[in-house]
Formats: sequence, structure tokens, C-alpha cells
Amino acid sequence: MPTTALALLNQPSRDAAPHREGAAAFDLVDPDAPHIGVLDLGVTRGDGVFETISVGGGHPQALEAHLRRFAGSAAALELPAPDPEAWAAAVRAAAAAIDPVGEAFVKTVLTRGVEGDGRPTGWAYAAPAADFSRARTEGIRVVLLDRGYRRDVAQTSPWLLQGSKTLSYAVNKAVLREAARRGADDVVFVSSDGYLLEGSTSNLLLRVGDTLVTPGTDLGILAGTTQGDLFEFARGQGLGTEYALLREEDLASADAAWLVSSVRHAAPIRQVDGVDRAVDSDFTASVNAWLLGRTR
Ligand code: PLP
Repeated sequence: MPTTALALLNQPSRDAAPHREGAAAFDLVDPDAPHIGVLDLGVTRGDGVFETISVGGGHPQALEAHLRRFAGSAAALELPAPDPEAWAAAVRAAAAAIDPVGEAFVKTVLTRGVEGDGRPTGWAYAAPAADFSRARTEGIRVVLLDRGYRRDVAQTSPWLLQGSKTLSYAVNKAVLREAARRGADDVVFVSSDGYLLEGSTSNLLLRVGDTLVTPGTDLGILAGTTQGDLFEFARGQGLGTEYALLREEDLASADAAWLVSSVRHAAPIRQVDGVDRAVDSDFTASVNAWLLGRTR
């Protein structure tokens, strides 16, 4: 079985013309061959949106939630709306084309296409996941970094696209290099007015007593599919769930803290700005076992 697979969308959106009249919704093509033009605005401007979907036991996880968010990000960029059926089929086909045993992911990308062409570009790429077992068991060190926007940026300045999953992730990568310079593995962004936001590619989750708490999605952060699923898990365990405004001291005093995201799942935070903090290994293990076992 191939280790990677690529489904290329023929008509990523019903609001735009197909690339080939009468062709199937997508084709499985050689992932190692070139498919994207150098004039594609996704490449030249980062003008597009994406999702990264976990695949466990061959099942794309939280697929509906990912495709909903994909559509929301596209709407924020005023891109043609992704066709949900074509994308779901492309994701499933790409996931099914690779080895179903190990953990994997499918990345969906929708770009504005070549300037002036009017047809968006779309693909779904499946590959094995990196090994995150150390992050999940030993935990991660984070540093708090000022994002430079107030907590109401999404309301005051929607054109900054905070809370949308755009292809412009150079900042999300730059902060990881800054974290490494400071001896850490990841970051927790803080608003310029002092509120905890999210990780570079993850949401912050705290356990405070019997309640799981996360920053509200009105803070210009991504509404996480993993966080959403974990709130469902928590309620099934009899735990409370809450969206709240959180500050640095809430992270310090929480009983446990994680960065949660697709593919890496729940990474317990074991150090903040060089200061060790408690990790709840048993609860983390049960959370990750549940996340890994999701069949939809
Ligand atoms: N926040 C940001 C900025 C992200 O990029 C991501 C995922 O990549 C998340 C949060 C977590 O979202 P999810 O759990 O849906 O992967």
C-alpha cells in the first residue's frame, strides 16, 4: 500500500467552474508528481484555507466538524464555498488509500487558484502521522507569547482573519522557532490585554477541579474540533465544561493543562516559562486513548 495519497478536486466548489467538464469530483493522483502551478495564489499569497484531520484506524476523525470549519474559513476569505460532499469523499478516499494500521492525517487545502482564473484549487493529502507519543506522555514545555492583538480583535478587525484557518501560517511556525530559542516546545498565545488564547496549532485546555475550561472562541482563536470532542468526552465522564476568560495565573493554578489538537491530540503542559507544573498522567492517557479510538 502507498504511504501517501493525494486526491485532487476537479470542482472544489459548486460556485465555480470545474477544472475539467464532466470529470469525476476528484482523482487519486501521484502525490510525488507536480500538480500546483507557480501562479496559484495559495502559493504566492497564502490565499487559501486548510484543515488537518486525524485518521485513526482508517477513520477520518471529526470530519464533519473539520469540513464545517473549512467552510467557515473559506467564507471569511470570501472564497467559493467548498462542496461538502466532494470534499468528504476526497478525504475518505485519500485516507482509505494509505496503510490503515498506524496513525495518519489528511490535510485539505482550498486556494483561490490562479489569479484571474476564477476556479479554486483543492486537494486532500493523506500521510502517516509523526510519532507524538513522547509529547503525549512526558508532556511539553510552553512559553507565553504576546500575539499583539486585543481579545476583541475578531469583533473590531475581522479583516485580520483571526480565528480562520488560512494558509498564512508563517507566524504559527515562527513562534515555534522562538519557543525553541527559549528552551520550549510550543507556545501559548496571550492577547495584548493579558488573556490566554491558544497554542501555535492547538487549543488550551485546563482542568480546574471537576471542570474542563478553555478560552472562548470569540477571542479570535480557532474553534478546535479536538477541544469540542473533548468537551463531549468530559460530559460523558460527569465532568463540567466551561468557556472562560483565562489569565496567566489560571494556567499556573489549574490542576492540569494541555494543548489539544488533531493528530498530536492531548499534550500535557509540564512547564510554563521555565516553571514546572503538575501533569495528570492517568487522565491524559484516558483522553488520548479516547481520541485515538474515535471512529468518526
Ligand atoms: N488553534 C490553531 C491556531 C490551530 O492551527 C489548530 C489546529 O491546527 C487548533 C487550534 C486546533 O484545532 P483542531 O483541534 O481542530 O485540530
